[in-house]
Amino acid sequence: MKGITMNSIAIDLGGTHTKIGLLENGVIKDFRTLEAYSTGRLADQLQVIEKELFGMSEKRGWQLNECRGIGFAYPGIVNPKTKKIVSASGKYTDGPSFDLENWCSKVFGLPMVLENDANAALFGEHQYGCAKEYDSAVLMTLGTGIGTAVIMEGKLLRGKHFQAGCLGGHFITSIHGTKCLCGGAGCLETDASTWALPDIVRSTPGFFQSGLAKESVIDFLSLYNWAERGERFATTLLNQCIDYWSAGVVDLIHAYDPEIVVMSGGVMKGQDLILPLLSQNVRQWAWTPWGEVRIKVAEHPEYSVLLGLHTLIEENR
Ligand SMILES: [Zn+2]
Repeated sequence: MKGITMNSIAIDLGGTHTKIGLLENGVIKDFRTLEAYSTGRLADQLQVIEKELFGMSEKRGWQLNECRGIGFAYPGIVNPKTKKIVSASGKYTDGPSFDLENWCSKVFGLPMVLENDANAALFGEHQYGCAKEYDSAVLMTLGTGIGTAVIMEGKLLRGKHFQAGCLGGHFITSIHGTKCLCGGAGCLETDASTWALPDIVRSTPGFFQSGLAKESVIDFLSLYNWAERGERFATTLLNQCIDYWSAGVVDLIHAYDPEIVVMSGGVMKGQDLILPLLSQNVRQWAWTPWGEVRIKVAEHPEYSVLLGLHTLIEENR
């Protein structure tokens, strides 16, 4: 491989934002963020991506068909062998019937890889980031939903139906809880995720007297804002979410025996508010007689999915 320039295209389809990266030898050379419109059709979003990619490559003087491959990360269950989206969970519902491999070949003349987004993120952190020194790691990414991934003894865990380790957002944390997008109820995502937060906040007693009632957008950033001002309503809700995330982390630790837990996603912008209580809970609740699991925030939270895809493209050649 020495001396060969390895260029690749990596696309993180995302629930809220689509990220596009042009990478050269594991370094992001160009990067764009687009609205994901994931309630719409994947076919429509791909037309937007195609236009953007040709614009980006022209600017950099790249011939796209000379790249080594194109990688897609998808926020749902995928089969990386057949390169098919298996289950969409409300995002790009035409995904399972869309022939992504054929599209990549037709439009760019390139081979492609498809991976679950949390798997790609952990793979990126394992190759280039905070999990580099560890051969057993789990990731929890707090974005629109909650993604999880597992590397066990140096290998990405996939399972018989490609859903091992990646469904931690649907660990059941409330057995009589509210309905989830996955078809179940009381999942970690319904108790403490960005998409569920507005309903959680509005149905909590005291909401109408709280600062959040004045906010036009209820999300974790507005929750942090009021918690930092010392408001009791916001602080109690935030701590409740941290307790749920801690339960999810402990479940991952008990199931997969990692040395390190990587926390990632946009919600971790509040890491200073989250980490002290999360670490304390995990220390108290995890049964790890060998010692303490490290908890680290992703080194490349914006790019780890793209870096993971870049490595997967190389591995699949
Ligand atoms: Zn669920």
